[in-house]
Amino acid sequence: MGIFALTISPWTFIFFWVKMTLSVRVRFAPAPTGLLHIGNARTALFNHLFAERHSGTFILRIEDTDAERTTEASIDHILEDLQWLGIRWKEGPDRDGPHGPYRQSQRASFYREYTERLLKEGKAYKCFCSNERLEALRKEQLSKGKMPRYDGRCRSLSKEEINRMESEGQRPALRFHVGRENVVFEDIIHGRMRFESTGIGDFIILRSDGMAAYNFACVVDDHFMNITHVIRGEDHLSNTPRQILIYRALGWDPPAFAHHPLILGPDRSPLSKRHGATAVSQYREEGFLPEALVNYLVLLGWTPPSGEEILPLEKIVNDFSLNAISKSAPIFNRKKLEWLNSHFIRRKEEDRLSELLIPYLEKAGLKRGDLDRNRLAKISGLLKENLVLLSQVEDFLGIFFDEKFFFDDEAKTVLLDPENRKTLRIILNVLETSPEITADRWPSLLSELEEKTGKKGKTLLAPLRAATTGKTKGPELAKTVPLLGKERIIKRLKMALELP
Ligand code: GLU
Repeated sequence: MGIFALTISPWTFIFFWVKMTLSVRVRFAPAPTGLLHIGNARTALFNHLFAERHSGTFILRIEDTDAERTTEASIDHILEDLQWLGIRWKEGPDRDGPHGPYRQSQRASFYREYTERLLKEGKAYKCFCSNERLEALRKEQLSKGKMPRYDGRCRSLSKEEINRMESEGQRPALRFHVGRENVVFEDIIHGRMRFESTGIGDFIILRSDGMAAYNFACVVDDHFMNITHVIRGEDHLSNTPRQILIYRALGWDPPAFAHHPLILGPDRSPLSKRHGATAVSQYREEGFLPEALVNYLVLLGWTPPSGEEILPLEKIVNDFSLNAISKSAPIFNRKKLEWLNSHFIRRKEEDRLSELLIPYLEKAGLKRGDLDRNRLAKISGLLKENLVLLSQVEDFLGIFFDEKFFFDDEAKTVLLDPENRKTLRIILNVLETSPEITADRWPSLLSELEEKTGKKGKTLLAPLRAATTGKTKGPELAKTVPLLGKERIIKRLKMALELP
C-alpha cells in the first residue's frame, strides 16, 4: 500500500481510470446450442476488428441460460472455431478476467440482485399466467389482427392474491413494466431508431424456473462487463428497446449499438441449412482456409476504402469502421468464397500447405508416418494451382501415390485410341534408353519426343498425361513428370499399353 501511494499519483490514477472506462470493450455472446454459424462468426469478426482498430478489448461471453439446449460440446466447438478464424479474446470462459464469470449460467446472483431491485421499486411484477393462457391470448390477438403482446393481467394483482398463489406452490415469472415511454436511439449502422412503447408488451425478465431471460441477463452483463459497443445481428434490433428500458430502470447508461444486416441465401431468405453448409466447422472440413473465410465474411457487406477484394486481416483492421457496413443485406456467394480460397491456397508456402493437406491425406487412407515431407512439399507446390478446396487433394492422389493410382474413364478413352497407343509406344522406347528425367532435362526430352513421334502439343501431351497421371486434367506436366521419375513413368506407360 505504501509503495502504491508513493509511486502512483492521483493524476496517474485518474488517467488510467478514464482510459479504462473510455476504452473500447466489445463482446461476442453466442448461445451454445449448436455449431458456430458463419453469420455469427461474421458478428464475432466485426467485434474483433472493431476492438483491434481501437486497441480495445474483445470479450467472449457464453449465453447458456437455456439449460435444455446448451451443450458443452457446442461451447468447445465455438472456442475452437473462433481460434481457427484467428479471433482471440482477452476475457472469456476459459480465462479469468476482472468481470467474470463469463458464462451466464454462473452469474445467477448478479441477475437476482437486480431483478429484486426492480421488483422492490415497482418496475417489475410477478406474473402467474400459465403458458396455456399466454398462448390463448396470443392466438386471440392474432385472430383480431393485433400484434401479440402481454395484456398486463398480473400487473394489478393484490398482495393477498400474490401470497395466496405463492402459498399454493405457484412459481411466478417476473415481468418488466414497460410503461409509456417511447425509445429512441442512434444505431451506428441504421441511424435513428424509434420504438413506440405501445408496441412493447410487458416482458419477462426472470423465468419461473429462476433463470434470467436473455434481455435482462444481457443488460446486466453488458453493464458489469463495461461493454461500450454492442455489435450484433439485425435480428436483435427489436430486443434493443427492451434492453434500453432496463438500462433506464436501473439508472445505467446504455452502450452504443450497431446492428448489422444478416447474410441471405441466393433466394433472399436468411442463410440456412437448405442453402448448403452454414457452420464454420463444415467449411473447415471442406478445406477452406481461415484467411479466405475471414476475408470473405468481412467483405460481405463492408467495402474497404480502397475497394480491394483481397486483404490480409491486418490491413482490414486498419481500414475497418462500423459506419461503412452496408445497411442492405448481403447475399452469400459460394463461388466468390471459393475464388478467394484458391487465391489463398496459391499464396501458401509449400511446406505450410503440405502440413495443411496431411489431415486430408490421412482421411484418404495414407499414413502420416509414411509421407516423405520433402516430396509432399513438392507435390503441394504442384497442386497449388489446381486446388479450390484442400479436400480436393484426394482427387489427385493417384498421380503421386502408386497405391492410389488408376486410369479414370476419360483417360482410358484417350489411351485406347489407336493413334495415341502408337505415340505411347514410341515414348516408352525413348524413355527406356534415356537418363533420369529432371526438370532441367525436360525441354530437351520434349523436343526428342516431338521429333520421334512426329507429334506436337496436345496430340503428344494428352496421351502422355493420361498414361502417367491416369487423368486428362491436372497439374503442369513439365513439373509432374520429373517428380514422378522415369521408373514410375515407364511402369505406367506399360500399364496403359496393356489396357484391354
Ligand atoms: N445470445 C445472443 C445470440 O446468440 C446474443 C445476442 C447479443 O449479442 O446480444 O444471438
